[in-house]
Amino acid sequence: MSEFHGHGIREKTEEYEARTLSPVAVLSSKSRGRLVEEEPCPVRTVFQRDRDRIIHSKAFRRLKDKTQVFLAPEADHYRTRLTHTLEVCQIARTIARGLRLNEDLTEAIALGHDLGHTPFGHAGEEVLDRIHPGGFAHNLQSLRVVDVLEDGGLNLTWEVRDGIKCHPWRETPSTEEGRCVQLADRIAYVNHDIDDAIRGGVLKPEDLPSDAVGILGKTHGKRINTLVTAVIGESLEKGRLSLSGDVLEALTVLRQFLFDRVYIDSPAKKEEDKAKGVVEALYHYYCRHPEMIGGSYAAIAGVDVRACDYVSGMTDRFAIAQYRLAFVPSTWGLDPS
Ligand code: MG
Repeated sequence: MSEFHGHGIREKTEEYEARTLSPVAVLSSKSRGRLVEEEPCPVRTVFQRDRDRIIHSKAFRRLKDKTQVFLAPEADHYRTRLTHTLEVCQIARTIARGLRLNEDLTEAIALGHDLGHTPFGHAGEEVLDRIHPGGFAHNLQSLRVVDVLEDGGLNLTWEVRDGIKCHPWRETPSTEEGRCVQLADRIAYVNHDIDDAIRGGVLKPEDLPSDAVGILGKTHGKRINTLVTAVIGESLEKGRLSLSGDVLEALTVLRQFLFDRVYIDSPAKKEEDKAKGVVEALYHYYCRHPEMIGGSYAAIAGVDVRACDYVSGMTDRFAIAQYRLAFVPSTWGLDPS
């Protein structure tokens, strides 16, 4: 068989982007590039390649057992950090395609944005931020995962790294694709957290603020559709990613409602103090016993940073198992079953 030279497939995709994408989209041929230069792929653009690297990473697979809101859920239908990520990705791609932004760049940012999330959701993040001398923020950790921790670094493009780092609301991503993921993240979590809270009996549909429901719609699907089409419509009008007016206001009202009724104070949160205790105990344990830190977190940083990297990378399940190993005496003398 003769060697495959790509038949100009990547170049054709790059030309297609230049012909068809919006003037505010990032063309893959115009990327600011990687930390370390590489031979281009004959088939995939730089952003398609970044997306694939993220999907094939171990940190991506661990998202399946990391909490979204409900801790280590046993029932089948609750979101995890992985299904959250996929919902963000799908909403972001729909908006990106509607606005003729670079869908591959959007997809790569969305799939990578939460890679640095701790076990037990924001409870874990809060603890590490309090006790780790360098502080902790999941977006910066997501960047650290792709730059350093995953197989010594995935060497992603500047645009994907910028979008991952700047996805929280308080930041300003440098690209329209990054802004698209930022907005899609909020649209996704506000809606699926409502859905999970209803599923968990924490909320009833009739508890939701009626004005917001009147604007966005009565069902999960209708609300997402209203938000996505409002973003596309307004952004086309303004020539940049935008959501304002009563639709944004309704989203903000629902988010605040979630904070008051679900995130801060609800039966679903009652295990959270225990989860925080697990993360705190593990962090101090690995600071004292760096020899117990898993192999791929070898001596690339100070002991406290390695402990923070290791614990923050754990799934809920793995953290509980490690806590048991470190702190709960194992039983003796049971007959093997
Ligand atoms: Mg997210």
